[in-house]
Amino acid sequence: MPAPTVRDHVTALESGELPAYVYDLTALQAHASAVRAALSTRVELYYAAKANPEPRILTALADTVTGYEVASGGELAHVRTVVPDAPVAFGGPGKTPDELAAALALGVERFHVESEHELRLLAELAGRFTPERTANLLLRVNLPVGPGTLDGVPLAMGAGPSPFGLSPDRVDACLAFLDSPAAARLRLRGIHAHLASGLDADSQLDVAGRIVDWSARLARRHRVPLPEINIGGGMAVDYAAPGSRFDWPRFGAGLDRLLARHPELALRIEPGRALTAYCGWYATEVLDVKRSHGTDFAVLRGGTHHLRTPVTKGHDQPFSLLPADAWPHPWQRPTVRDAPVTLVGQLCTPKDVFARQVPVTELRAGDRVVFAMAGAYAWNISHHEFLMHPRPNFHFLPQPAPVR
Ligand SMILES: *Cc1c(COP(=O)(O)O)cnc(C)c1O
Repeated sequence: MPAPTVRDHVTALESGELPAYVYDLTALQAHASAVRAALSTRVELYYAAKANPEPRILTALADTVTGYEVASGGELAHVRTVVPDAPVAFGGPGKTPDELAAALALGVERFHVESEHELRLLAELAGRFTPERTANLLLRVNLPVGPGTLDGVPLAMGAGPSPFGLSPDRVDACLAFLDSPAAARLRLRGIHAHLASGLDADSQLDVAGRIVDWSARLARRHRVPLPEINIGGGMAVDYAAPGSRFDWPRFGAGLDRLLARHPELALRIEPGRALTAYCGWYATEVLDVKRSHGTDFAVLRGGTHHLRTPVTKGHDQPFSLLPADAWPHPWQRPTVRDAPVTLVGQLCTPKDVFARQVPVTELRAGDRVVFAMAGAYAWNISHHEFLMHPRPNFHFLPQPAPVR
């Protein structure tokens, strides 16, 4: 259920102001503070901007997070503009020379280097454009975390063939290069490994332990200090259980045990979804209700061109109903009662489905629907231009004080 502030806000909107994204910044800050409080000071918390780069979201997090992880030149420029003083880590495969040069010029705090070629490119560009500075980097490694560890994980990015990070058998070559004069402007700080999205606290801790052990062995073998390890993001968000959360206290306690075994180590995490998914709501209204070959459909204003998440993840987007009693027409109101209903949008494609066969006690044309968990990988991953419907409105609660 949305907080009363969100519910009241949605109820007060005119039909023509829907659909609307409503972001509960108070809830976001409370959640982020709870996450931060569950982690020791030896764990740095970065926010992965690609989950939701809305300026108001980035600034709402600014007091809580250590910095931001960006994965493109666009995100880098955006984050530097919105939160100019915040540390930035620049990751992602396929960084262009222009993006790397811009990142060097902006002095990003950490590069997450994804390949040997990228390492050489960075060294060359650093020598050419910013010879007065040192570029700090982590090597992103696609670690074999052990058979079965990532089985059943929604979005595995490593531990098998993947375009992300270095194959572990190429790391020695990178360390040799980093030791050469060609890499004079580069400084290796540690290891990065973002291996999957959707891990619960115990699986995350298991993976973290393996990353730290592997890195410690590497450091010993090569006699290089690796004081930092970034274990990535991917903390699970369960769309089937909007009330449950990743167990941050359990995770934080587990990281403490890991840190106790490695007194020199600084750990970093970079969650996206688990920080912002819960603060966003996509509110709209039922335009039509109809029965087709035995199945009840509710057609909503808007669609998955605004909220693509249920299509990409293959889930039912959780929602609440806000009944609206006004019915301005003389004919009977299209209604479904005590039956499962499929919620679709206005797009002319059978893929435009928010949720399938969800039981409702009553759903009528004109009622409002508020989709939960629309704060991450929602608007910004959606194909807005398809069918040329109007864009949603965006609201950030609390509303800013009126400027006088
Ligand atoms: C996407 C991504 C993240 C954030 O993942 P979430 O599942 O949103 O927590 C963190 N690090 C890297 C390298 C990523 O690509």
